Amino acid sequence: MSIPHIHSKLPNVGTTIFTVMSGLATHHNAVNLGQGFPDFPMNEELTELVNWAMKNNFNQYSPMPGWFPLREAIAEKVEFLYHTSINPDTEITITPGGTYAIYSAFTAILNPGDEVIVFEPAYDSYIPNIEINGAKAITINLVYPDYHIDWAAVKKAITSKTKAIIINSPHNPTGSVITENDIQELRKIVEGTNIFIISDEVYEHLIFDSIPHQSILRYPDLLQRSFVCFSFGKVYNCTGWKLGYCIAPPELTTEFRKVHQFNCFSCHTPSQVALAQFLQNKEAYLSLSSFMQEKRDYFSKLMRDTKFEMLDSHGSYFICAKYDRISDEPDKEFAIRLTKEAGVATIPVSAFYQNGKDDKVLRFCFSKKNETLEKAVEKLVTL
Ligand code: PMP
Ligand code: GLN
Repeated sequence: MSIPHIHSKLPNVGTTIFTVMSGLATHHNAVNLGQGFPDFPMNEELTELVNWAMKNNFNQYSPMPGWFPLREAIAEKVEFLYHTSINPDTEITITPGGTYAIYSAFTAILNPGDEVIVFEPAYDSYIPNIEINGAKAITINLVYPDYHIDWAAVKKAITSKTKAIIINSPHNPTGSVITENDIQELRKIVEGTNIFIISDEVYEHLIFDSIPHQSILRYPDLLQRSFVCFSFGKVYNCTGWKLGYCIAPPELTTEFRKVHQFNCFSCHTPSQVALAQFLQNKEAYLSLSSFMQEKRDYFSKLMRDTKFEMLDSHGSYFICAKYDRISDEPDKEFAIRLTKEAGVATIPVSAFYQNGKDDKVLRFCFSKKNETLEKAVEKLVTL
């Protein structure tokens, strides 16, 4: 009997490193500083608000673009933080997570043969999202060890096929952030072209050292050609909610919604009702950076007693560390051995490069209870 055979659209894709390392962490009962999620409870008030919404019958489909009061609350927040006026009706779409928003943006704009500039190390969904649309990722390495963008390399990589550039700040996995100068360079490159920008800003509020977040939303000229993607899960410590949004000008939003309406149609209603209320209090987001910065500082201080050499992290909830004073193994082998033998799971940064570039660097997630960070470091000091 013959069974149908799939001609894979993603022949090079395996299981994501996050699933692999979380699986290993569970199997070996290791402290999991690998996959990016908090191990502490989410905000109690937000939990109560979602309970309230469910108990008060906000349990049916919301409108396709999202619960309107939530879109209004987002527009108010954007006006307050970035002084840009966004139309909640035509420019904001609520999505089931940031990854989905990025995928939908790529799908809305890409045609076979198009090229997209991707900076590596890159969040692992970008390249498969590009390739499933028949387009090609043109990768450019961020400059190690501070992982800044080499704009001369970007200029060289632009061709008549370049359809988009994807940027990510604060950056996963490195915690680097883009500066005002980066924005000026980006502006020079795209001016007068048909190049779109996809801006992955899922760590929007998790930026440290009083550095202002260079959101594309601050720059109306760049916003005209951009899809700006966010995640409620990441910033409000509820990654399992899988809720986010995309802000884009009306013509781009129209195409984005064509993809969205026949893929997901609309998102979880009670969470949207809860967030609409929660965002009324500015402290909900203004308090996030200092909370996470304290975690970065605490973890960095603990790590001083180990042989790891910490790199800078100015945002996200990740920090990278070199381990060449401990081992010369490739990073994947070292990360696996660390999980099995030392009982601490991390993410090897080579997983964020298409060609597996290995600078012998591991990524640690510090969005954890202090006792979890302490437990991990107790094990790491023995190396
Ligand atoms: N982009 C980056 C850089 C991320 O780290 C994540 C976190 N998973 C996402 C997008 C997607 O977030 P979400 O869980 O909301 O899909
Ligand atoms: N963004 C999270 C991380 O980088 C993981 C999300 C996922 O597992 N896909 O660790």
